[in-house]
Amino acid sequence: MMSSVPASDKKMKLLVYSIEECPVCGQKTKRAFQVGDYITKDGGKCTKCRNTTRVSLVYAESSKPSG
Ligand SMILES: [Zn+2]
Repeated sequence: MMSSVPASDKKMKLLVYSIEECPVCGQKTKRAFQVGDYITKDGGKCTKCRNTTRVSLVYAESSKPSG
């Protein structure tokens, strides 16, 4: 039998983040992952020096179920 639905009571929610890093001053900004993000993609403006940041890291955290 093939089933794509996992049978589990636990709902594990993954929170995905992107780290934008400024190549000039090294400022790092953590923000929520957006569809289309990938490492080396251009990010927003650096809050310090106004240069364009790059996505340097994408990672996921598992959110702890409350209760
Ligand atoms: Zn900067």
